[in-house]
Amino acid sequence: MKRDIHLVVLLLLVICCSLASLTIWKVMASRDRALEEVNIHGLNLTQALVTYSEGIVRQSSMLLLGIVERLETEGSDPSQILRLSALVSRQLPLMPQLSGISIYDKQGHWLMSSNHLIPVGANSSDRAYFIHHRDNASREPFIGPPIRSRSNQEWVITVSRRFDDARGDFAGVVAVTLGVENFLRLFGQIDVGQDGAIGLTYTDGTLLVRYPFREQDMGRDFSKSPIYAQYLVDKSVGTASFTSSLDGVKRLYAFRKSDQLPLVTTVALGKREVLAAWRAEAVLSIGVVTSLIGITGIIGWVLMRHIRRRIKVEEELRLTQQQLVCSNRQLEVLAMRDALTGLANRRCFDETLAIEARRAKRDGVSLALLMIDIDYFKLFNDSFGHVAGDTCLQEVGKVLEDCVRRPSDLVARYGGEEMSIIMPNTDSEGAAVVAQLILDRIKLKNIPHKASPMGHISVSIGIATASGSDLERIQLLIKAADQALYRAKEAGRSQAVCYS
Ligand code: GH3
Ligand code: MG
Ligand code: MG
Repeated sequence: MKRDIHLVVLLLLVICCSLASLTIWKVMASRDRALEEVNIHGLNLTQALVTYSEGIVRQSSMLLLGIVERLETEGSDPSQILRLSALVSRQLPLMPQLSGISIYDKQGHWLMSSNHLIPVGANSSDRAYFIHHRDNASREPFIGPPIRSRSNQEWVITVSRRFDDARGDFAGVVAVTLGVENFLRLFGQIDVGQDGAIGLTYTDGTLLVRYPFREQDMGRDFSKSPIYAQYLVDKSVGTASFTSSLDGVKRLYAFRKSDQLPLVTTVALGKREVLAAWRAEAVLSIGVVTSLIGITGIIGWVLMRHIRRRIKVEEELRLTQQQLVCSNRQLEVLAMRDALTGLANRRCFDETLAIEARRAKRDGVSLALLMIDIDYFKLFNDSFGHVAGDTCLQEVGKVLEDCVRRPSDLVARYGGEEMSIIMPNTDSEGAAVVAQLILDRIKLKNIPHKASPMGHISVSIGIATASGSDLERIQLLIKAADQALYRAKEAGRSQAVCYS
């Protein structure tokens, strides 16, 4: 039963542990899946945004190439600039992402602006793109850092090319301005949640556009951010997870470097937000499993209590049973014993004699029976009283028990002051030896009995033996022993007579 309890506890523990580990595994797997999905989604978005940015820059470059070509072949005198201005006015509406086009001479003076508003004395020689083209012979387009437009004060990014004079010297710059607002409008249509952000940067980490827009971030250097310092060193596309140095929000980043342009697009999603749905599901799963484990625990506890109670009841039952068996045994002993002398009683005598008679017949051996009667016992009682008589009976009983040696011999109180001994597998000679021993021992005991001619307690013994078919009628054996006893009495008592 105790093993049952251990088995139940073990089984419940195994069930609960399996359930808990399975849930933890499932919850962690679904978290990994959620993060993986977000990364894939982010990478797809960066691909779309890189394509978009490349498209705009390429369009701008092509437009610039046409204008540079004209400026270099046809010069930059006012009539030529006027014609270019007309051409640009027709082309610009076809490209809504482009905010404007400006042409500057080699000193940075404005030669033309598609916005028609050339600020008086305007000079852009301090702009990064102008300095780049003036000091660098490369004819490749240049993407400049975000600046505030001098014509309309809006934040713009520039794509520019230099044009040379007939001798191949620097003659000026043509720049297309791309309104940051246009990028923000597109980025804003993409759902990146409350903590999300979309960024367009140079490969060196200079921020061009960031959604959500913050004035102070424009042109900021992010080269120390893990994406530029760590990830983009050896790969051009990937995902990362870290806490933003900008606002301290933990985000999942997907980044992609353009193959053709020095641009990097980053899509970032707040980790907390991204995992919100997973968290809710995990809390639900853990709640359900905890309840299940709780219910299992309660069932186990009830079961164990039940088993424990059963064990207790069974234990009590076993104890009661043992006590009953013990009592029964004592009862049985009592039922077979004589209360005064402690010898076997008459009932035990009768049963044993019947059993031994059958056994003797079966084994072909003889069975001896001794009938012993205390001499002048009535007188003893009369002289010393019944209490002394009882003590005398007990002492004679003890002497008889001392005289038999075989475990199969049985000394019994036959009735009154008469006792008997059943001696299996014993012939009359053997029985006579025991009878003589009894006579001697009683004499030796020397229990005073002044009313007896012997002066002390003595016994008379009748011996009878039977074998073979004589054993079938056991009463005859008793009768024979009785007759022998009668003869011993007649012969003067304190002697043994064998029935012949
Ligand atoms: P004898 O056998 O020598 O012929 O004489 P007796 O006096 O012994 O014979 P009798 O049968 O006349 O007397 C037996 C007496 O044994 C009668 C009774 O008082 C006494 N007696 C029988 N059972 C008990 C007993 O349990 N206790 C006591 N104290 N006496 C008993
Ligand atoms: Mg007697
Ligand atoms: Mg008698």
